[in-house]
Amino acid sequence: MIISVASGKGGTGKTLIATSLAIALQDKAPLQLLDCDVEEPNAHIFLKPSFSHRQAVSIPIPQLDEEKCTYCGKCAEVCAYNAIAVFPEHVLIFPELCHGCGACSYLCPENALSEVNKEIGVLEKGYSKGVEFIHGKLTIGEAMAPPIIREVKRHIHRERLAIIDVSPGTSCPVVEAVRGSDFCLLVTEPTPFGFNDLTLAVDMLNKLAIPCGVVINRDGVGDNQVEQYCHQEGIPVLLRIPLDIAIAQLYSRGVTLVEGMPRWQAAFIKLYDDIKQIVPTAQGRKTE
Ligand code: SF4
Ligand code: SF4
Repeated sequence: MIISVASGKGGTGKTLIATSLAIALQDKAPLQLLDCDVEEPNAHIFLKPSFSHRQAVSIPIPQLDEEKCTYCGKCAEVCAYNAIAVFPEHVLIFPELCHGCGACSYLCPENALSEVNKEIGVLEKGYSKGVEFIHGKLTIGEAMAPPIIREVKRHIHRERLAIIDVSPGTSCPVVEAVRGSDFCLLVTEPTPFGFNDLTLAVDMLNKLAIPCGVVINRDGVGDNQVEQYCHQEGIPVLLRIPLDIAIAQLYSRGVTLVEGMPRWQAAFIKLYDDIKQIVPTAQGRKTE
């Protein structure tokens, strides 16, 4: 089963939830934690893995052979990302906009475009306690997170439980990270901002047909709009974590809730049991 842990906005404690769930379940199931928040990965701070594998992640960027080019403009036409501009006697390629899709070189009628690899980040893999840990790190200044996320997800073993820590928001990297999940936990806080961003995240998951449940962090602050919304939409609130200075201190020290406060172990195991109850029902609904 693949469980992604996402949030409509940053700073909700998503990584604390993902890592605490992994630690709570480490003896219950063979599991992987994949940190797909590749622009700012920080799950390793909580899990402290020993890395045994490191690889560069690259994307293929077009390279022009001016001798062959007729400046027909076909490559610029097919590039959905405006990464190529063709002038009467000149072609400009913008590698920082290129997604490495290969369409331009494939469709060039003169075979004037070849591909060269451009390194955009790294993937590291290792173990922490009983958890296989994989994360991607986008090089500072690079913009293409999805290819690294795809590379991290290529390491998923379907027969294991995979927990994916997703970047905040609802942009392309989030869609790439949650795509294919059996369930998505949305971590939010009961404030107007938390409510607004939760609705955006739920819309995204509905479009991807991924069932979801909510974790309310800092429960007790703000208002009850999140509760009311979840009730109206039939979205289960699976866990509530109160505003507690001791939890904030654990977070700032990079300690999971389960390790810092062992009484939370049972709550995270129940969270997983509740998800296991929901997933077959949701999958049944999808195939009806
Ligand atoms: S499609 Fe090929 S031939 Fe046409 S402008 Fe682009 S590189 Fe040149
Ligand atoms: S590889 Fe794709 S994104 Fe990159 S320049 Fe070519 S068409 Fe555009």
